[in-house]
Amino acid sequence: MSAIYKSLIWGERVSLAVLDTTALVNEAISRHGLSPVAAAALGRTLTATAYLCSWLKDEKSALSVILNGGGAGGKIFAVGDGALRMRGFVENPQVSLPPRADGKLDVGGFVGRRGTLSVIRDDGDMPFSGASELVSGEVAEDFSAYFLTSEQRPTAIALGVKIGTDGRCLGAGGVFLQPLPGAGEEALSRTEKKIAEFSNISAQIADMGAAKVLLGIENAPYSERKFCYQCHCSEARAAAAVISLGREDAMALIAERGEISVHCDYCNTDYRFGAADVEKLFSEKA
Ligand SMILES: [Zn+2]
Repeated sequence: MSAIYKSLIWGERVSLAVLDTTALVNEAISRHGLSPVAAAALGRTLTATAYLCSWLKDEKSALSVILNGGGAGGKIFAVGDGALRMRGFVENPQVSLPPRADGKLDVGGFVGRRGTLSVIRDDGDMPFSGASELVSGEVAEDFSAYFLTSEQRPTAIALGVKIGTDGRCLGAGGVFLQPLPGAGEEALSRTEKKIAEFSNISAQIADMGAAKVLLGIENAPYSERKFCYQCHCSEARAAAAVISLGREDAMALIAERGEISVHCDYCNTDYRFGAADVEKLFSEKA
């Protein structure tokens, strides 16, 4: 089970969150057949998106993130809601890249370094949308830049996804250190120094778990919330998409292809409707 642990530390001047997203990343690997570098890129993005979702005001609020960096993996999409139901996909899930010189997965090459990180948040009031320029395509630095320029909240971030030789995720997660408004320069520089200790956060999550990572930073009371991989698509929603084509166009597609297939990118599910299904949909509607 994936979870986020949150605490107020250093005299309640800094908000600390540690996430374990191992199960979430493994679900994404199963659904999309992700290559190791694709799993790392989507996993880091899902981790940061889950953190953003943890600040949403209620379960109906939703948030989506798009990384568009022009890299080998294409665009990366991650979505979640206030109940921490997460989902996401990458345009090119099977692309593999040679490792970097230091042996790590080349997430920057997969994401790309020229483009934007955009966030759309809908919490029932005015929808908010913000964007920032990508810095390195390594995701953590890109989200740090987003928090600073678009939300005016300096945030020190470490993200990591460790993939085993069998292609499964062994450990994934992140650490977020965000000074509260008015915390001062000293708190800010302390977060930056601290975050450098988590360059191998995926191994730390795998070895000791996220709660222990949090307690290792400061032994303070913390909250825990679970999250999961869950898509919003359904047979009924797919049927509504078929109906929205109109009877004439739907029948033309059936004549041409024998069926209408509605694909959900987020969970990689195909909903198929044959001639009889489509007839039934339109006769029920009438
Ligand atoms: Zn779906």
